[in-house]
Amino acid sequence: MKIYAKKIVTTLIIIFLYIIFSKNLCFAETVKTMTIVLDPGHGGHEFGSINYDYGIMEKDINLKTTRYLRDYLNNYYGINIIMTHDGLADNQEMEIVDRSMVARNNNADLLLCLHYNATGSIYEEANGAEVYVTSRREQYKYYDESKEIGELILRNLGRIGIASRGVKTRLCNDTEEKWQYYDGSRADYYGIIRYCMKGPGDDRGINFSNGSGIQAILIEHAFIRGSDFQFINTDEKLKRIGEADGQAIVEHFNLKLKTEVPNSITLDKDDLTLFVGEKQTVNATIKPDSAKNKKVIWKSSDSSIVKVDENGVIEAIAEGTAKVTAIADGNEAIKKEITVNTIQPHIDIENGAETSVIEGNKIQLFTDIGKLDCDVVWKSEDENIASVDSNGLVQGLKAGNTKITATIEKFNVEASITINVTKLSEEQKIEIIDYKEENGVISNFDRETNKENFIKHFNIPKDFEINITYLSKDNIYVGTSAKIEILDSDKNVVQTYITKLYGDVDGDGIITARDYTFIKNDIMNLKKISSEIMKSTADVDNDNVITTRDYTFIKNDIMNLKKIEKR
Ligand SMILES: [Zn+2]
Repeated sequence: MKIYAKKIVTTLIIIFLYIIFSKNLCFAETVKTMTIVLDPGHGGHEFGSINYDYGIMEKDINLKTTRYLRDYLNNYYGINIIMTHDGLADNQEMEIVDRSMVARNNNADLLLCLHYNATGSIYEEANGAEVYVTSRREQYKYYDESKEIGELILRNLGRIGIASRGVKTRLCNDTEEKWQYYDGSRADYYGIIRYCMKGPGDDRGINFSNGSGIQAILIEHAFIRGSDFQFINTDEKLKRIGEADGQAIVEHFNLKLKTEVPNSITLDKDDLTLFVGEKQTVNATIKPDSAKNKKVIWKSSDSSIVKVDENGVIEAIAEGTAKVTAIADGNEAIKKEITVNTIQPHIDIENGAETSVIEGNKIQLFTDIGKLDCDVVWKSEDENIASVDSNGLVQGLKAGNTKITATIEKFNVEASITINVTKLSEEQKIEIIDYKEENGVISNFDRETNKENFIKHFNIPKDFEINITYLSKDNIYVGTSAKIEILDSDKNVVQTYITKLYGDVDGDGIITARDYTFIKNDIMNLKKISSEIMKSTADVDNDNVITTRDYTFIKNDIMNLKKIEKR
């Protein structure tokens, strides 16, 4: 009893899971691709029935009708048509089993075998269409579905005027194995149906109860002689018959015209990189233009990282990577995927260590915003203590502390440091002797100036130090863009300067051909000098533009014709 209870519970769970997982979780339409094999009955030296009065052979009208059917179905999407033959030479024939094997080998969904009927004797009159299907009922697709299709075909032929003799089954009478199916029961009489169901060979063949039998439908469209002849006596009429078969297939399988089904989707953007908080719209185009349903379904592989709405608006939610897929609503096989990488936007104030500035002096702050390309807004909490301009240049105004904040408003991220403005006594005042100082930039020194030289010329208190950071660590002389820091006895940076040496564009403290190469590349627009300080250094003649004149100054200097004077 307990074992039975367990079995029942297990069965219920399996049924429950089946229901859950078999639900179509995707809303897009599935356009199934199916294979249909068309078999024009007879062919070659096998004529089939004959209308002697008009010299018409069944093999010829079978082939014509099949070609019309093929052409009709080829207008529909998701259908693969295979013909067992497209006309045989007069000395050829094609075995029934070989026709069936075309369907079996292609794992066809259906085989349609096209014939025209005849009575045994020319004196016997009969009319109407009849359809033969398998007698087997192991699966819906065998007898039940075949009968439904057969009835649609007969209905459509009826609209042409051909009477219906019904959908029929016919069984073998013999008792040998080859006339039986796997279970020993009588097999279907018509070879095309029998071999499609059980496979080749003169035995009972395979057990097709698992669905491995191929559905085959034999259609006797009309009688080749007698009163039915009026329905088949022109190619135009044969075409209508082929189309009647085709319409039944289209209706039963709900096929859609190729011109109405999406067959491609393109996106106007490739893989994207977005900052968290950023949105980007991706537009999808569905072809053909005549597609009935051009709606697009958007999906994200991970909506905790990237969200996408029904209009293709992609939003970066968190840092990571997700795939966004656009699926044609009218045909889910048509889709396009892009990868979206998301980056958390950040801002850091780089020189966070330099937090002191002497009253009246300036200190330059820099930010690191990674790959972002957007404006930074600088703000001082107390404008009376220190001001900051739009480029992060801080000026100490009054002794005290204030917070300087750099914000990327677009992403609402900020960084801040506290600036300490100090007042120095008269004797502590730092003076720059000989050199010219403007906005934290020192110029007007000789190019042979080294660190010792600088220390000598800065009139700084004894317990203070100077730290020079060269642009390149191999430098001997102070060149352009060296950073001079003045540190107090507690090793706090109290002042920062940047150096500028005219003609020394590359910052190595010596004037060489490398410097005029920079100028040359700038003039020729090969590579513009981007740094402001390098630009002003390259402008040797101080006329605010970089020209060949500046280049000449440097050349003359190198050739010892005329040395660049300090300014
Ligand atoms: Zn025939």
